[in-house]
Amino acid sequence: MSRSTFSVGVDVDSLWHYYRIHGLDEAQASDHAWEVGVPRFMSLFDALGLPATFYCVAEDIERSPSCPMIIKEMSDRGFEIGNHSWHHPYALTTLTHEVATREITEGKRLLEEASQSIVSGFRAPGYHTHRLLHQPLIESGHRYESSAFPCAPYYIAKAMVMGGMRLLGRRSQSILGPPTLLTAPHQPYLAGPESPYRALSHQGELSTPTLTHFPIAVWCGLPLIGTLLALLGPRGARYLGRGVARGMRRGGRHLTIEFHAADLLSLIDDELDPLLRVQPDLRRPVAMKKEAFTAFLSSLAAVADPIRLDRHPLLSAQSAL
Ligand SMILES: [Zn+2]
Repeated sequence: MSRSTFSVGVDVDSLWHYYRIHGLDEAQASDHAWEVGVPRFMSLFDALGLPATFYCVAEDIERSPSCPMIIKEMSDRGFEIGNHSWHHPYALTTLTHEVATREITEGKRLLEEASQSIVSGFRAPGYHTHRLLHQPLIESGHRYESSAFPCAPYYIAKAMVMGGMRLLGRRSQSILGPPTLLTAPHQPYLAGPESPYRALSHQGELSTPTLTHFPIAVWCGLPLIGTLLALLGPRGARYLGRGVARGMRRGGRHLTIEFHAADLLSLIDDELDPLLRVQPDLRRPVAMKKEAFTAFLSSLAAVADPIRLDRHPLLSAQSAL
């Protein structure tokens, strides 16, 4: 059996998105995600020798003064630029077909222009997607999507937080997504136009236009995302990493690990707006989070090959069909 592989990706959600999720006034948001979070992640990945993907929101090219220069730098340093939509609408999956299509196509076009690189991957905002995105993704030249997140504990926690906010009279712009997303496979799969959460298997089904999906990793029910690693701290992350590595050692598996640019920011170290304390992982110091991420990723790198998602072998198989 072939050696296991893993990919790391960072969703570059600027801080104003956190104000939106928590129903706060986004006019006060600073540009720390681009100015500080992204450069810290680039250094971390370089130190670990990991070829990562940064999923960027194309409107930031105009909205963030640092973004255009950093996007170009990411691409020059060998990182993959992924499309995280044009404006990061949390309600992307409920928009009209026309507006959703523009979010996808304009996002890709603007990011390619800024990075001078080919954008092959799409990650929808908010950990869920929709079958109506299938066609615009294929027609605009995307080769994969990495939005599915079949993690029941995360889904339930998100439902409870959103319900609690409603009780307090605050409105989150986040959307929960249908429970069917929990049925998505945990390993990469090809999906057709009917459902982004169902793997195609029969030859007949595979003759329809397919898109490769890389679900965000879930291990024994646990979401393998930066938020969890930050909350676990270095000891917990090391322990988790060793457990996951034991399962990967047998080979033949792929994990897509997800971070956010804000995962390497801290309320105290970076003197962020105290209103952001609603985001618990921002209360942890940067050094501690960096140590936790390093411990976890090093455990994986000891048993599996890191791979840029746009170079995953499944994509060549898809082109050959
Ligand atoms: Zn996002």
